[in-house]
Amino acid sequence: MIGRRGAITARSRWLHLAGAVVLALGRSVSSVQRLSPSLQAPARPLTADERAVLQPVLAGGTALDDIRIIDGRAGLFDVVPHPFTLGTTIYLKGRRAPGLLVHEAVHVWQYRTRGARYTVEALGAQARYGTARVGGAYDWRAEVRRGRTRWRDLYAEAQAQFVQELWEEGVGIVDGRVERGGGAFFRAVEAGGPARLDDGPVDRSALARECVAALRGGGGMTAPSEIPHAPD
Ligand SMILES: [Zn+2]
Repeated sequence: MIGRRGAITARSRWLHLAGAVVLALGRSVSSVQRLSPSLQAPARPLTADERAVLQPVLAGGTALDDIRIIDGRAGLFDVVPHPFTLGTTIYLKGRRAPGLLVHEAVHVWQYRTRGARYTVEALGAQARYGTARVGGAYDWRAEVRRGRTRWRDLYAEAQAQFVQELWEEGVGIVDGRVERGGGAFFRAVEAGGPARLDDGPVDRSALARECVAALRGGGGMTAPSEIPHAPD
């Protein structure tokens, strides 16, 4: 067991180091681009509307004040067509859907709870499973079929995708009314009301509740083949 634990620690250190390198490279590209607004749009804090979207999702589990948004041009990063997150900076690429903002904010949470290594894990999962909507690194249903039945055990992209879908599809009773989507699940949980997530015929409410508890405070995430968390 000691040998295995040693191997895990070495892998963990390597991932952290590799993650820090990826993040540092990304930051240095960004810091050069920032000098020229024609290359990269200026960073801004969250708007009041964006805070209202994210507050029930993260609910104090991660601070909103130092999240920065870059709306438009992202220079070199425009080779990636979709929004992405570097540390606590979210590159929205001109997209406006709140569900996408929620997805990217989960990556900020991952960065805060796991450090830079999550970047490498996310890239590793994309290399291993691809990015196809079905069966790819974003496909949390495929992850569950692979045996990762707890939200905190899902790969980074599958975690973020699950939270996005939970925000977009989850049902909750808010102020006595049944609401679906638009963060209803999170707002209902925050108010102590009933909430559920149905995925076709499958009830995913337990997975959703575990996810919300992790986002709000504890839990962090484990990566596959890491030491599992002790039962809560
Ligand atoms: Zn993502």
